[in-house]
Amino acid sequence: MPIYEYKCAACGNCFEALRFASDNEGPLCPKCGSPQVERQLSCFATGVAGGSGLAGLGTAGGGGGGCGSGGFS
Ligand SMILES: [Zn+2]
Repeated sequence: MPIYEYKCAACGNCFEALRFASDNEGPLCPKCGSPQVERQLSCFATGVAGGSGLAGLGTAGGGGGGCGSGGFS
């Protein structure tokens, strides 16, 4: 029986809910009743995986701005 973790976009509440193959929509937040919930791989380990790679690319691209220094003239 599949149990998924969800995070409410309205109040940030994390909760678990059963999902069935026939369900096309996510569950409602049990705390505030909002239907705007996002499925999480793990509510208790968020913000670690997937973010560092994009940040590294951004840092590398921004470091190439030294061409305008004009140190050879
Ligand atoms: Zn909520």
